[in-house]
Amino acid sequence: MSATLATASYIGATILFILSLGGLSNPESSRRGNLYGMIGMTIAVLATVSGPHVTSAGYAWIVGAMVVGGSIGLYASRVVRMTQMPELVALMHSLVGLAAMLVGFANYIDPAASAEFTGAAKSIHEMEIYIGILIGAVTFTGSVIAFGKLSGKIGGKTLLLPGRHWLNLAGLLVVIWFGREFLHAESISDGMMPLIVMTVISLLFGIHMVMAIGGADMPVVISMLNSYSGWAAAATGFMLSNDLLIVVGALVGSSGAILSYIMCRAMNRNFISVIAGGFGSEGGAPAPTGGVQPAGEVNPILAAETAELLRESKNVIIVPGYGMAVAQAQHTVYEITKVLREKGVNVRFGIHPVAGRMPGHMNVLLAEAKVPYDIVLEMDELNEDFPDTDVAMIIGANDIVNPAAEEDPTSPIAGMPVLQVWKAKTSIVMKRSMATGYAGVDNPLFYKDNNRMLFGDAKKMLDEVLAALKA
Ligand code: NDP
Repeated sequence: MSATLATASYIGATILFILSLGGLSNPESSRRGNLYGMIGMTIAVLATVSGPHVTSAGYAWIVGAMVVGGSIGLYASRVVRMTQMPELVALMHSLVGLAAMLVGFANYIDPAASAEFTGAAKSIHEMEIYIGILIGAVTFTGSVIAFGKLSGKIGGKTLLLPGRHWLNLAGLLVVIWFGREFLHAESISDGMMPLIVMTVISLLFGIHMVMAIGGADMPVVISMLNSYSGWAAAATGFMLSNDLLIVVGALVGSSGAILSYIMCRAMNRNFISVIAGGFGSEGGAPAPTGGVQPAGEVNPILAAETAELLRESKNVIIVPGYGMAVAQAQHTVYEITKVLREKGVNVRFGIHPVAGRMPGHMNVLLAEAKVPYDIVLEMDELNEDFPDTDVAMIIGANDIVNPAAEEDPTSPIAGMPVLQVWKAKTSIVMKRSMATGYAGVDNPLFYKDNNRMLFGDAKKMLDEVLAALKA
């Protein structure tokens, strides 16, 4: 393929990626968005593989790598369950970081690549390598730790080293100092030492940054690592002089940054405080409980009684959370919704921005169950309607309906906006036990007089509610 045709294909792919991002911003157009992305990526791969930079000797390597990568991807898509998607995404971010690191080192030691540049161009190229490896290393270890935290392999508790801000600052200064050494190195072997020192510091910083982040702040970290992986890809693009990779990396990087900002706003968090780590859990103390210490007995309820309450209601709001994803209860939830709507009950869904374990998690599940989009509302759109609601049905959600966020300034989730389900006439919480949610904070909602607990697996309990409703 000629260079001109490759460039034209890259422009076509870029347009498709932009259309893809636009499509993914809305559940109704998200399928189309995915399709644009897939076509764009196919064009991008074909144009690169058959482009002017690839010699015939490289084909065997490329085909081999594509077979291995494609097989792993195919296998993962078949075995990974929906509840494991957030971990998978974190793992994929780590691979982008690892790739940026490896490309950086390969580029530096490749005599052909370095011979292309002289004078100022050489310094700029080396700066690209240094920064590319730095971002790649932070993304790599940060994402591996995020994977560990999301999959429960690493505890969600924050690790707060003494003087951690000073440690980070010292690390930054050392990285800047060695950057100078690297740029002034006479030979590749002289430059290797500063490059390796910087890589080790960046790898440690990635671990430190994510280990210091409190459970409730993980959504911001996920979107931030998403953004980092984009910048790592863009850095790789600079190192390889590949325009498409630069543009795509910048698209992912900036959309991830916008998502991080939206997540911070949704959780009423300051972006800088979140990335500095340990926000909301100063000193690593166990979750403090001040003003509104949960106390008293909880009121259990049976599935048949739940069905009775729902049947007598005019307005019902369903609040799904992570437990609905675990139980795969979305289809039964929709069956119940249909039965209630046929009886004239106004049923709506209230979606918290950080419900589940990844942005848009609940929207994906409800779309899979074919719940109409017009009854799926954002938290801000229906939070004021709870006082006029007969039943708020909370399915496997916990942190996102915790009144302590509003009432207890000492709570680790203080200030995070939550769905005010306790203002409904009756709230019913469906979960298996009194266990805490992701943030590890007790929930005073469970002890309120107007709250009922329907204990059990969400799918099993909802099946029973559906049977009772149909009886
Ligand atoms: P939570 O983690 O607060 O609560 C989920 C609840 O579901 C648990 O208390 C659990 O209780 C219950 N549960 C688990 N399995 C089942 C089951 N099979 N049937 C019924 N219930 C079940 O989830 P929320 O959605 O309320 O809040 C999300 C939390 O995750 C927030 O803290 C958020 O910050 C964090 N987070 C969100 C991310 C995102 O991007 N959305 C990313 C990372 C973290 P029990 O064990 O008693 O059943």
